[in-house]
Amino acid sequence: AAKETGRNGYAFYTREMTERVILAASSDREVRRALAEDELVLFYQPQISMETGRLEGMEALIRWRHPVRGLLGPAEIIPAAERGGFIIDIGDWVVAEACRQIRRWRECGLPPIRVAVNVSAQQMRNGRLLRAVEGALAETGISPDSLEIEITESMLQNEEECIATLHALKGLGVTLAIDDFGTGYSCLSSLKSLPIQRLKIDRAFIQGIPGDLNDMAIAEAIIAMAHRLRLSVVAEGVETEAHMEFLRALGCEGVQGFFHARPMPASDVPDFVAGGITDSRAPRRR
Ligand code: C2E
Ligand code: MG
Ligand code: MG
Ligand code: MG
Repeated sequence: AAKETGRNGYAFYTREMTERVILAASSDREVRRALAEDELVLFYQPQISMETGRLEGMEALIRWRHPVRGLLGPAEIIPAAERGGFIIDIGDWVVAEACRQIRRWRECGLPPIRVAVNVSAQQMRNGRLLRAVEGALAETGISPDSLEIEITESMLQNEEECIATLHALKGLGVTLAIDDFGTGYSCLSSLKSLPIQRLKIDRAFIQGIPGDLNDMAIAEAIIAMAHRLRLSVVAEGVETEAHMEFLRALGCEGVQGFFHARPMPASDVPDFVAGGITDSRAPRRR
């Protein structure tokens, strides 16, 4: 529908769409077909350095260019793929595609861009993620430190295999981040022993700033703890100048959210890097 098409000519999916879609959730078979027919794509959302105001990385977020329903988000893809047992195939594709994109951006003359990818718990098993990362690094020849892997706290629960995978990934030179920090079942002791470089504060805690004293206390405590552990922090869901001010005062290193940019197709990234992308709905500061 026309109102779902952004000014840059591509569609955004909105919360209403996500909710509507729960009723019409896609079947495993449809998602498998989408993967086979190359309908899955990665969008990229900038992560901005608080210190310099410049792009320091991108998070790759999966989308489905559905021939009839338009642009669909992860909720339409990931649960079906986990159910259908092919989340690992999708995960392999995401890693390979992100690495190819890093290389394409290099080839068109952009400065090195780090890309973070999300992974599912099943990928941590049987060395699958490790093989995908090794294969993609070898195929593309990109520098390993331009790839970041985002895991969630729940993956770390008593998962020896997961922990071994993290050490092996670190050994390859890949960066590791904990996503949605503060919303899972945290095991704080794992933070001191795991080869993690970054924490991402879940946007649930950012949304209440300013005003919600509990959210502010939690965000502040996470940042202070991370810094004492020599981890850097990225805040997710940064939407307003008030969020920026609060996070800047606490020394949060990176910010990601609609304040700076929505997830965008890879083809928009060169313009964004050049300062040319304007998102009419987000005030910009660059
Ligand atoms: P996530 O990894 O925590 O990703 C951040 C989500 O927050 C993204 O939603 C992004 O579009 C959204 N977001 C970013 N800035 C803002 C903001 O300022 N305000 C608000 N309200 N939202 C913001 P998205 O793309 O729908 O992804 C949802 C989740 O799906 C991700 O959460 C991640 O857990 C999962 N996901 C996405 N791509 C992949 C993938 O390739 N593989 C796997 N396994 N999971 C994925
Ligand atoms: Mg993430
Ligand atoms: Mg997150
Ligand atoms: Mg999240």
